[in-house]
Amino acid sequence: MPEAATQKRNPKQTLITELDLTKIDGNGDFPCPTCGVTISPEDESEDVYVILEEKVTDDVLEEMIIQCKNCSAQIRLIGFSSLNMDTTNPE
Ligand SMILES: [Zn+2]
Repeated sequence: MPEAATQKRNPKQTLITELDLTKIDGNGDFPCPTCGVTISPEDESEDVYVILEEKVTDDVLEEMIIQCKNCSAQIRLIGFSSLNMDTTNPE
């Protein structure tokens, strides 16, 4: 048994920026708070970001924690409930 203490401290404490989608104009795209790259919640290609965690209540997405692949910043997205996916376009 190695005696080395397993107490590892995260040298860089991960800072999660909270972002309220209800305060974003347009279709939900927003710039990464840290590096400014455009992140689109509807983009599921994972080219720009990866989803770390999703919180779903009654089939409704409540919040999502994503990580920007450009700068590794973590962003907590809230306010999905009021962001109705606008799929109904009469035109
Ligand atoms: Zn970023």
